[in-house]
Amino acid sequence: MNNNTAENNGTDVVLIGAGIMSATLGMMLKELNPDLKIEVLERLDGAAAESSDAWNNAGTGHSAFCELNYTPEKPDGSIDITKAVRIAESFEISKQFWAYLIKNNIIELPTSFIRNIPHISFVWGNDNVDFLRKRYEAMVQCHLFDEMVYTEDREQLKEWIPLVMEGRDSADPVAATRMDLGTDVNFGALTRSMFDYLQNKCGMETHFGHEVRKLKQMEDGRWRITVKDLQTGEKRKMYTRYVFIGAGGGALPLLEKSKIPEGKGYGGFPVSGQWLRCINRSVIEKHEAKVYGKAAVGSPPMSVPHLDTRYINGKRELLFGPYAGFSTKFLKRGSFMDLPKSIKPTNLRPMISAGLQNMSLTKYLIDQVRQSPLDRIEALKDFYPDARPEDWKLEVAGQRVQIIKKDADKGGVLEFGTEVVSGANCTLAALLGASPGASTAVSIMLSLLERCFMHRINTEEWQVKLKEMIPSYGQSLAGNPALLDQVRSYTSEVLGLVPATAKR
Ligand SMILES: Cc1cc2nc3c(=O)[nH]c(=O)nc-3n(C[C@H](O)[C@H](O)[C@H](O)COP(=O)(O)OP(=O)(O)OC[C@H]3O[C@@H](n4cnc5c(N)ncnc54)[C@H](O)[C@@H]3O)c2cc1C
Repeated sequence: MNNNTAENNGTDVVLIGAGIMSATLGMMLKELNPDLKIEVLERLDGAAAESSDAWNNAGTGHSAFCELNYTPEKPDGSIDITKAVRIAESFEISKQFWAYLIKNNIIELPTSFIRNIPHISFVWGNDNVDFLRKRYEAMVQCHLFDEMVYTEDREQLKEWIPLVMEGRDSADPVAATRMDLGTDVNFGALTRSMFDYLQNKCGMETHFGHEVRKLKQMEDGRWRITVKDLQTGEKRKMYTRYVFIGAGGGALPLLEKSKIPEGKGYGGFPVSGQWLRCINRSVIEKHEAKVYGKAAVGSPPMSVPHLDTRYINGKRELLFGPYAGFSTKFLKRGSFMDLPKSIKPTNLRPMISAGLQNMSLTKYLIDQVRQSPLDRIEALKDFYPDARPEDWKLEVAGQRVQIIKKDADKGGVLEFGTEVVSGANCTLAALLGASPGASTAVSIMLSLLERCFMHRINTEEWQVKLKEMIPSYGQSLAGNPALLDQVRSYTSEVLGLVPATAKR
């Protein structure tokens, strides 16, 4: 291994990681200011090879149409839709940005990355049926969700979701809601299209097989990044004015290395995932929906089981899961030392406190890890009673690193969302966490621009461009039905989204 150290003369922005977050930020920055010199450093050999790859995530365009964990029941029994509204608005923002990319011939063929798939919430048992009915009644009050349809009618359900209804106990009460506006998104294909354009048309340099090892802020405010070429073993130093750590599960260790005070006290809790992938084409063809259920008690919100139609590389697929698990790796292609190496004196207390407060989660993950192949099929049978083991194959999904952070009262808390942490006068920002994830990449990156490019964001030039990219930029969609209708019909037309008419 060669330890040569070369130097380069610097760049404006370095994006660490070639997933959907870096692609989105790179694309926005290049559209806002084509003169910016941007370089990307990625440890793997291609873009979107970790969580953003289609097989590593569920591909749900999260709009809160079917995800019951976004609408918790309050102690008084009413349903809180605040989070659902926020997520649905964020996805509308993502669709507008993607429509802009298509309209401007920046990326091609919307069908290669986004398709309409009905989003269905399906529940069984009296309590769950009551919950779903209340949730439906609360949600249809908001224009974002007023096309939602609710049914307890078994004949209707057989038409919507035959696999789920065949062989089901007729005494068990069931109910479902359906939103035809739901989507399946191949975030991997989208990410790779954005990187292709950035590399080939915008001159953005992308260094694959390059792992970032160190980050240090210089006295002049710039960042020095030490990067290792994993093929030659050569180490290089690069200089840049801004750094975005979009390294997915690998973001926490890099944030720690940056030594910004704002990053102190954060820890990570990795949750791995597995899917059952259907290998029987006749079964795959019988299902056309994303069917989300209710999470088991004590389970993390992102492990809500779902039976999903997917479109990957032009082919229809069927996946069930995810089954959660525990691994000390922060990335699917990471190291078992990732978790132990991330523990520092500054995050030890928050990590222990969060661990002690989440014993039910630990127990849930241990139970999941101990599941036998037959246990997994039993879980699938809750959704698809006639499932046969020989039709399904186990696949490994991506790794998620949940955020643990300091808390004045509790010592530390475990969080399931995403968070942008920035410091050093906003010259460095890192994205921690993984949920709701890729669907909200555009809103997350807008908030990062608002924070780190404060001096540019309010200029007329950037405001005009932002409104061209995202026509509803700066306006509430939930509170403006006419604008929402306008934006939805525009994005549906450009993205080729033609919802199948609900069979009511
Ligand atoms: C099981 C599962 C299901 C999910 N389902 C959904 C879903 O249905 N809908 C949705 O919207 N989101 C979903 N998500 C979340 C979504 O996949 C992620 O939020 C999103 O892909 C994160 O993108 P990213 O760019 O931050 O990270 P990634 O795509 O993981 O990219 C990070 C990149 O950084 C690189 N890297 C790491 N460390 C270094 C280093 N030191 N030097 C150089 N490069 C480095 C990695 O190799 C990787 O390529 C799911 C995630 C999982 C795991």
